Amino acid sequence: MDCIFCKILKGEVPCEKIYENDQVFAFLDIMPVNPGHTLVIPKEHFENIEELPENILCEMSKVVKKIGQAMIKGLNVKGYNLALNNRTMAGQVVPHVHFHVIPRVKGDGLRLWPQRKYQEQEAQIVAEKLIKNL
Ligand code: 5GP
Ligand code: ZN
Repeated sequence: MDCIFCKILKGEVPCEKIYENDQVFAFLDIMPVNPGHTLVIPKEHFENIEELPENILCEMSKVVKKIGQAMIKGLNVKGYNLALNNRTMAGQVVPHVHFHVIPRVKGDGLRLWPQRKYQEQEAQIVAEKLIKNL
């Protein structure tokens, strides 16, 4: 498997480990938005959220929370962003599903997404399409 995160898990590529348990591993992103930017990954290779079993997603969420708490306490930051780029269209580069936990500092330049208003009826139409497929 030619996956950089699997190589990190096997110890073939070095990383700055923050935490691990049976199912989840957390380490520093090599190119952080801010120092402490952490990636939380499952120990088993799954490409995206659709493939990921729900129990592992739950375990990842617990670790995300733990890392966030450590950022607030240990890095003295006032907030952090969670991101998960799911599939190439959404900006996923490494095809091993991962949460980004990104500590925020004033003036760091990280921009969130642009937003727009719905046109008439558009919200109901899109809501129906979603609800039908739950
Ligand atoms: P994506 O764009 O897939 O959501 O994010 C992948 C992230 O993995 C990027 O932020 C990138 O900096 C990080 N990354 C890629 N290769 C390595 C690596 O070899 N080591 C570490 N620690 N992070 C990596
Ligand atoms: Zn992998």
